[in-house]
Amino acid sequence: MTFLNGIAASNGIAIAKAYRLVEPDLSFEKKTVDDAKLEIQRFHSALEQSKSELSAIRDRARVDLGQDKAAIFEAHLLVLSDPELIAPIEDKISSENVNAEHALKETADMFIMMFEQMDNEYMKERAADIRDVTKRVLSHLLGVHVVNPSMIAEEVIIIAEDLTPSDTAQLNRQFVKGFTTDIGGRTSHSAIMARSMEIPAVVGTKTATEEINNGDLVIVDGLKGQVHINPTPEVVEEYHRIHKEYEAQKAEWAKLVNEPTLSEDGHHVELAANIGTPKDLKGVIENGGEGVGLYRTEFLYMGREQLPTEDEQFDAYKSVLQGMGGKPVVVRTLDIGGDKELPYLNLPKEMNPFLGFRAIRLCLEEQEIFRTQLRALLRASSFGNLKIMFPMIATLDEFRAAKAVLNEEKDKLVSEGQIVSDKIELGIMVEIPSTAILADQFAKEVDFFSIGTNDLIQYTMAADRMNQRVAYLYQPYSPSILRLVKMVIDAAHAEGKWAGMCGEMAGDETAIPLLLGLGLDEFSMSATSILKARSQIRKLSRKRMQELAQEVLNMSTTAEVVEAVKAAAKM
Ligand code: PEP
Ligand code: MG
Repeated sequence: MTFLNGIAASNGIAIAKAYRLVEPDLSFEKKTVDDAKLEIQRFHSALEQSKSELSAIRDRARVDLGQDKAAIFEAHLLVLSDPELIAPIEDKISSENVNAEHALKETADMFIMMFEQMDNEYMKERAADIRDVTKRVLSHLLGVHVVNPSMIAEEVIIIAEDLTPSDTAQLNRQFVKGFTTDIGGRTSHSAIMARSMEIPAVVGTKTATEEINNGDLVIVDGLKGQVHINPTPEVVEEYHRIHKEYEAQKAEWAKLVNEPTLSEDGHHVELAANIGTPKDLKGVIENGGEGVGLYRTEFLYMGREQLPTEDEQFDAYKSVLQGMGGKPVVVRTLDIGGDKELPYLNLPKEMNPFLGFRAIRLCLEEQEIFRTQLRALLRASSFGNLKIMFPMIATLDEFRAAKAVLNEEKDKLVSEGQIVSDKIELGIMVEIPSTAILADQFAKEVDFFSIGTNDLIQYTMAADRMNQRVAYLYQPYSPSILRLVKMVIDAAHAEGKWAGMCGEMAGDETAIPLLLGLGLDEFSMSATSILKARSQIRKLSRKRMQELAQEVLNMSTTAEVVEAVKAAAKM
């Protein structure tokens, strides 16, 4: 039996068969064939296999996912029967005596290039259809298996090199019991989503895709960050016991769902949730969230082929505001870029996407996208307690420019007779060191701060949050990070404003005592972490944590801080 060590990305234990979500190797060589007729027959048999596979997928998609999602497979089936594509492939095989793989790839590439160059979204989508279909037919010609995660219909653990946030969003919670990836860190977006979906996950194992075969029995230990491959019956039994214990612990925490979050000495802090879609609200309510501290709106823009309309966005924002029934909802404007791509924006590839054209930088440049979102938000504002925040603010000029755009749209809507709330607070994410350092100046102009430690730590430590080789530099308890956090909280309080945190650090049990001591007002985390955090805070004395925070700010290493927290917070 072997096991791999990785990064515990989402709590819980999962035991199931492995399902490898690995791109198949579709490489081949150009060959001359003796019998072109036979080769054309081989091509047709791969076409037929692809058709029957696609028909089965389409039928299942209709039942499981609805007609809408099934339409894509219908389009693929049409491509497979299109004489305009099939005939030139057959001609190429017989006139050049080449293998079917080569004829298929050359012909398909020509069509893909032609469609992609057209200035028409519909035609561009056809290019994507041809690319997908070609892959499927090639896989049959080569006898390799193509994977399709949305079609999984048995309990599995996904094994992948990496999962993009949109791959993760498509995972069916009913069947996907856990996942493990070769790369990624605790704050990569697939890890964040796993936590909100309550799917146990271990990321950054380096070699999971090398070591694990389809069908192997796998245990994902999202508590310790281990992945066991083909464990002995004794290990499986031990994990059933750990799983039960964890469930019992969760049942204990669940008793606090309607309790306030008060420290042992009666100080109240707000525990809010991070959400990605209106669907996540259910989890926020079930876990006793006192608000939404971060609504990552970019997921509204992902997994689709064009921008969401103003009305689609309005519906989503309104349903979240209404769903929270007057409790605060902090909506972050579009933060695309970094590890969250929008292929349909056709943005050029960048050398350093996390340092590049993302978030507010993109919104201030592509103002139509930004204005549409702001209009939708302003129209939704009268349905609840809306707060708007801008991501990745590095300078006051950026904040002022974004605020000016918001005010312009607000004035337009009001002059059109629309109702817009006049109580919308306007804040910023503090995730760039320049902003943390200048927080005293920002505090005069914003209504609140929300500290985004996922990025603040990667930028302060210069360590890519996606790269497991530098994951050791993700050090939320480093005195350097704690000093920045203190500067931001103190700056807010000096101007009578509030400071929250929506990075993963806010839900981290070693960080919570320190943040309580530093005076953080709002902690926003995965909904599934709220009850555990509430249980912890109720046992902590705020006064003692203030003393602890003072002590650790003068320490020199993360290890010293951790030791001091463990002693003071009796962990
Ligand atoms: C952060 O950077 O801490 C944050 C909450 O934003 P995101 O994780 O979406 O980049
Ligand atoms: Mg961020």
